[in-house]
Formats: sequence, structure tokens, C-alpha cells
Amino acid sequence: MKKYIIVAGGVMSGVGKGIATASIARILKEYGFRTTAVKIDPYINYDAGTLRPTEHGEVWVTDDGGEIDQDLGSYERFLGENIPKRNNITTGQIYKTIIDRERRGEYLGKTVQFIPHVPDEIKRRVKLAARGYEITLVEIGGTIGDYENIPFLFAMKSLEREIGKQNVLYILLTYLPIPSHIPEMKTKPTQQAIKALSEHGIFPDIILCRAKKPLDSIRKKKIETYANIEAEYVISAPDVKTVYEVPLNFEKEGLGRKILKKLRLRPRKEPDWTRWRELVERILNPSRKIRVAMIGKYVEIGDYTLPDSYISVNQAIEHAGAWLDTGVEIEWIDADSLLEKGTSILSDFHGIVVPGGFGTKGTEGKIAAIEYARKNKVPYLGLCFGMQLAVIEYARNVAGLKGANSTEIDPETPHPVIDLMPSQKRLLKKKRYGGTMRLGAYAAVLKEKTRVMELYKERGRIEKDMERAKELEKKRLGIIHGGEKFVLERHRHRYEVNPEYAGKLEENGLVFSGFHRSLNGEILMEYIELPGHPFFVATQSHPEFLSRLEDPSPVFLGFIKACLER
Ligand code: GLN
Repeated sequence: MKKYIIVAGGVMSGVGKGIATASIARILKEYGFRTTAVKIDPYINYDAGTLRPTEHGEVWVTDDGGEIDQDLGSYERFLGENIPKRNNITTGQIYKTIIDRERRGEYLGKTVQFIPHVPDEIKRRVKLAARGYEITLVEIGGTIGDYENIPFLFAMKSLEREIGKQNVLYILLTYLPIPSHIPEMKTKPTQQAIKALSEHGIFPDIILCRAKKPLDSIRKKKIETYANIEAEYVISAPDVKTVYEVPLNFEKEGLGRKILKKLRLRPRKEPDWTRWRELVERILNPSRKIRVAMIGKYVEIGDYTLPDSYISVNQAIEHAGAWLDTGVEIEWIDADSLLEKGTSILSDFHGIVVPGGFGTKGTEGKIAAIEYARKNKVPYLGLCFGMQLAVIEYARNVAGLKGANSTEIDPETPHPVIDLMPSQKRLLKKKRYGGTMRLGAYAAVLKEKTRVMELYKERGRIEKDMERAKELEKKRLGIIHGGEKFVLERHRHRYEVNPEYAGKLEENGLVFSGFHRSLNGEILMEYIELPGHPFFVATQSHPEFLSRLEDPSPVFLGFIKACLER
């Protein structure tokens, strides 16, 4: 029988439900079970594609083109697997499916009602995601007590009735504050969260207690008495320096075996955390340290959410750092302030990154940073927008195309070196914004004897991606001629290098080291590099989405290596 683990959160949001879910999934995989995870987002948006990252964190992109909550990224990074978009369920998707079905007359004249139709559709989607897996974790977004997650709790309860209590486990993640005026860990909010959950007929089997420190036995006992679950199922989730410590901490309390026992499963193999532990140890105590400047639009984003909107870039840097036994300090630099203060402040850094972005603000500052990196031979990594801006910089300052720009930034530019392809123009005319960017994995054919080819070859990614290609739709591969080598990275953008300018840029020394040949014959530039520069590589893709602790992204690895050599 298939097993389900429902993870809900109490007390408040932001206590790490996503990481806890991802960690448990990984632990169970270590015990030999085919495990996956589903994220439920109770908002009415159909997907996260139209959400502002500064409000909701990064938009995660799946191989199959889903634009999803960042927690799915944690699942992929911890499980080391590619998870499809069907593993994300939103209220918007549920209602849209039901209403579309009703309009097609598929309910045969019946009244369409909240119960049973909403929980039924939720269950249908959860079961679909569970296909092919033995254990499925279902993380319910938001906090117990929110109106929004009631339908999902109801649906999980109904699933339990269908398949039996022994096949469903409930985990509650709570937060135990230590107020500054009384130096004591308080359990009351947790007690209230348990009570709130019980109003839905759900009693947690396991409680994960997020707090500054691990819980003492008095606190565990208190929760035992109140929640009526044995203290051994009250698990500490103390603050950590790196999220990759979390599964190790859980296992210190034997969480994996405790879950299996409750689900009446026996471990199939002994977990092997050797490599994982080694990498965590390096993140905590690296032999060397470097500093990387990340150029962003600071003012718009404010102090608190900036790293969250680029969580995968941070993670990819952390992975590459761990592999090279290097601690990487990331400093965010406001693009606009670079124009005021001058780019010389960049001389303090070992490398410069311009990550993905949209809109006009801050672009001239980012271009100035790229010019600085190019001229002063500072390692540069450009991601998506960071590649487009590097092309603009090169067009203006080397190829002599005065006023060159992207039509996203300046629609009147005399040299639209970055522009929309005709298909995108048609979509925007019809105001079709949601889910219409170039999304998901696409193949990039790599040129021989380029830096980019070398980076991917070193990590064995060519063979791996050719294998992975078998699972993807044809359009994602495009046209590949015999003998050509390609890699697969994920994308999320509308604009492209204008093919009309590619020749001119190449004549001036810019190397396009990879391209996609779409089924309709368009050539889309995927990578650029500058020969003779220690490391100047940029890509139209987001390689950060495929970086994992145990399998870092080749371009990030190359970049950090170059930073170390500087
Ligand atoms: N704004 C650019 C585009 O739409 C780049 C997007 C990105 O960096 N993700 O093409």
C-alpha cells in the first residue's frame, strides 16, 4: 500500500516546513524507499509565475516548464531528482479544473459543491503525483488556522479514511519561541497549534519543534502531556548554519526509523550519509574564503527578502563552494549605487554575478559592473538577464553599436541586440502573460573547444543530459544533428539574443558557445564566453535550478574555481 506523510505548520510561517519536508523525503530515500514530495499552495493564483519574487520568494522552474513555489526547489535539491510540475497543487488549479469540467457538462446535471468535488479533485491530484512512488510527502502551505488550507486538511482526512490510518502519517512543524524578557522556551503556541489541528480531526503522529536550540526533556514531556503523543515522537529542529544539516539533525533523533515504524515499514537499507556529511562539514568549516559581488536592484527589494528571491543562485554557489572547500561570502550590491559610487568598489571581490531579472531599473548599473569585470579580468558569471546585459555591454563598448539595448529596456533602441521573437510578440499583443515565457528545460548544442563545453564535460553532464533527454518532449530538444553534443538547463525568459546581430558580435570576438535550434528553425543563443579572459561566461538559462549539493552545476563550479585563482 502507498504511504502518505502530511506535513502541516503551526504557530507561524517561515519556520522551515519546506526544508523539513525535503529532509524527511531524503531520509526515507536513504532507507531505500521511492519517495517524492508534493507542495500544496492554498493561494488562488494558478501558479507562482505571476507572483512577484520579492513578495513570495523565488519562482522555481521545473524541467516540464512549471513556475512554482521555491519549496519544490528544496525537494529537488535534497532528493537529487527532477520533480514535475504536477507535484504542485494550488487552490487556483483545483477550482479552474472543476469549473472547466462543469462548463463542459461533465457533472451530468449534478450540483457542483464544495464537498465532495473540491476534496475529490485535491485527492486526484495528490494520487497522480504519488504514481510510481512508495512514500509521498504532502506539504500543506500556510499555517494551521488559515481559512485557506481547510479544504486541503479535509481532503487529507478523507484520503486517510479511504486508504486506512496505517498508511497516513501526520507531522506538525511548530515554533517554540524564547522571548527576550524571559529566557525560557515557551510551549504554549505549540499547544495551541495542536489544538487547532485537532479541530480538523487530525492528531499529529510526530511533532517537529523548530527553535533556537534543541528541546530539553522538560519541554518534550510538556508537549507529550498536552498532545498526548510520546516524548520520543517530539523531535527537535534547532536553528542551523546550513539547511543541509537538517536531515543529519533529524537522524540524530532517529526520525527516519520512527516514521517507518509508524508506517509499519522496515528499513530496506542502511542510510549512507558519508558524502553528505563531508560536504556539510566543508560548508561549516571551509579551508578558504572568497567574496562574490551579486549585482541587484536593492532599493526595490529592501533588506529582508533579497536572498530569498535568489535562493537557488545562493544554493548553487554554496554547492560549488562545498566541493572546492571554499566558503563564499555573497555581498549584494545595489546596481544604482554602482553608478553613483563608481565601479571601483568591485575591486574587493573575487568574482561578479549578475543574476536573472526583469524590467528597466538598475540595468545601467549592472552593465557597468559587467564592463568592469570584462576590462579588469574579474571572473564573471551572467545568468539569463546577466547574459543579455553582457551582450549589450559588448555590443556597445566593443562592437561599436552605440545605444545598443534590449527592447525590454528601451523599445526605441537603434540596435535591439536583445529582442522578442515573433511568437512572443504575438502572445504579448493578446496580453497572455501567465505561463507563456520560454519555460523549462531546453537543449543547448555546445561548440567544441569552448570553455563551456569543457566545464560540462568535466562534470560528465553531456552523457547524463543525453540520457535525461529521453524523458523530455521533442520541442525541448529542438533539432540536433548527428554527432552534436548538447546539455539541458532550465529557462525562464521572453527575450533572446537578436540573431541579426550575432554575426557582428562574433566578428568582434564574442563567442557564442552554445545554441538551441528550435523545431521551427529559430537559432536561440544559449551561452557566451570571452576567450583570453580568466572566466567570462554567461548563459540564457538558469543553471542554478539543476545544482545540487552532491552534484554542483558545472558553470558555478567553474566560476568559483576561477574566483579562487584570482
Ligand atoms: N527579462 C529577461 C527576459 O525576459 C530575462 C529574464 C530572466 O533573467 N529570468 O528575457
